[in-house]
Amino acid sequence: ATPLSVMVGTGKGARTGILIRSAEALETAHQLDTVVLDKTGTVTAGKPVLTDIRPADGLTVDGLLALVAAAEADSEHPLATAILAGARRRGLEVPAASAFDSVTGKGVRATVDDRSVLVGTARLLSDAGIGTGQLAVSAEEFATQGKTPVLAAVDGRPAGVLAVADTVKEDSVQAIAALHGLDIDTVILTGDSARTAAAIAGQVGVRRVLAEVLPEHKADEIRRLQGEGRTVGMVGDGINDAPALAQADVGFAIGTGTDVAIEAADITLISGSLSGVVTAIRLSRATMRNIR
Ligand code: ADP
Ligand code: MG
Repeated sequence: ATPLSVMVGTGKGARTGILIRSAEALETAHQLDTVVLDKTGTVTAGKPVLTDIRPADGLTVDGLLALVAAAEADSEHPLATAILAGARRRGLEVPAASAFDSVTGKGVRATVDDRSVLVGTARLLSDAGIGTGQLAVSAEEFATQGKTPVLAAVDGRPAGVLAVADTVKEDSVQAIAALHGLDIDTVILTGDSARTAAAIAGQVGVRRVLAEVLPEHKADEIRRLQGEGRTVGMVGDGINDAPALAQADVGFAIGTGTDVAIEAADITLISGSLSGVVTAIRLSRATMRNIR
């Protein structure tokens, strides 16, 4: 590409809210054949809401929620924010927690009223030797609805399941269809459960799902796709996504996401909408057509 055509392309991008960091990014985007999408905050709005609370025998709805909210009080995860907002909405008094510990990609652990509380994935509980059989039916039911199940255990015993739901961004469906129209494969990559991810993928028309991927393994999944001979774009918003954004041939950061993701990416979509990916790829194709 000539410096002038790249400058023109970059300028056009900037006017439509697409910040292209380098000539190389604009020159590579037209070769993408695969676009990997983070789920939470990228395909979905990233503003999850607490929708269901199902205590195990011996606990009340409010009793379970108070314990879980207390354990989540020091977590910065969007699920924690949703659970605390849910507790506040119900007017609950959330007890103070101590010995808070966050388990990356799995959940949290804390002591509440002298009780040891675990909140997170089925894996988090089973890693602690707690049987999740009793909670599995509810968890699967929520996941099939595209909700994220949040399992809880108190003093080593299953205590219940909460569900948190996030809505798909308004134009995600259209943007993903447009990518397919450009002959680009799409993949959802998430730390969330396979069932929840599959339900969201179904809502937006994505056919391939890589779920239950721990934050430190997201970049490996990009590398694996590149190993299949693919040229891979990655779209993400979270701190978790930064290594994958850097590994991708072109990293796209959601402009409303974290600074860490924006710094790791080649292109920033100011509006936060997935349609910016389509616009950027079209711009790259037009730029490269003009100059060869
Ligand atoms: P995502 O790709 O969905 O942002 P993360 O890697 O942050 O995923 O977390 C993976 C999974 O671990 C979440 O979907 C959730 O089930 C669980 N998890 C992580 N942090 C928390 C938390 N603070 N409370 C409850 N569950 C959590
Ligand atoms: Mg995210």
